Amino acid sequence: MPLSSDIAAARLSVLDRIATAAREASRDPADVTLVAVSKQQPDERIEAMLAAGQRVFGENRVQEAALRWSHRRHGLELRLIGPLQTNKVREAMALFDVIETVDRERLARSIAAEVARGARAPRLFVQVNIGEEPQKAGVSPAAADALINLCRNLDLTVEGLMCIPPDDAPPEPYFNALSAIAGRNGVPRLSMGMSGDYEAAVRCGATSVRVGSALFGARAPR
Ligand SMILES: *Cc1c(COP(=O)(O)O)cnc(C)c1O
Repeated sequence: MPLSSDIAAARLSVLDRIATAAREASRDPADVTLVAVSKQQPDERIEAMLAAGQRVFGENRVQEAALRWSHRRHGLELRLIGPLQTNKVREAMALFDVIETVDRERLARSIAAEVARGARAPRLFVQVNIGEEPQKAGVSPAAADALINLCRNLDLTVEGLMCIPPDDAPPEPYFNALSAIAGRNGVPRLSMGMSGDYEAAVRCGATSVRVGSALFGARAPR
């Protein structure tokens, strides 16, 4: 179990590597947000990360996130980075500031319907299955433009695109492909890069990186 000083040190080290990668790409390090992925992490580590000053967290399950964060929600930014079922949209919108996993028309319509009912509009990212892998979520690259347009026609602002590249290949071509889709659609932000590839992602233009194990240590199995 890492000590809280280890967690603070891990955070500083990741922030430092992000800054170095940004400068290598002639980017401003302040333009990259570190999203600490807290799924499956024990409470001591969460407390240590909060004490270290981290305020932006990512979770991939609505129920688990509600248990972890509802009682200490204030002052934080929470991002949903896992698949969202339409029957959990209302709960997800009540908890999360950002939903990074809009990947199909039905989900976009369900979010828009909640907004029409008076719910606060979340910040949205469209998830793209950039390696076209059958086991991964996300809209196919060929259908991404249409989904972005559909969101806009529903009066939903698409703040960014998100992807998880294949884990058995160099990630840069996939990061660059996501950046190209964002560029041609005028979408300003890119959520890409995890513990193993966040520096490469920053060099390819990521505006946020989702880092779990490199910050908190290995996750407990579910
Ligand atoms: C778990 C998860 C991460 C973090 O993974 P690490 O390799 O531990 O950094 C990032 N993005 C998504 C979508 C995840 O589910």
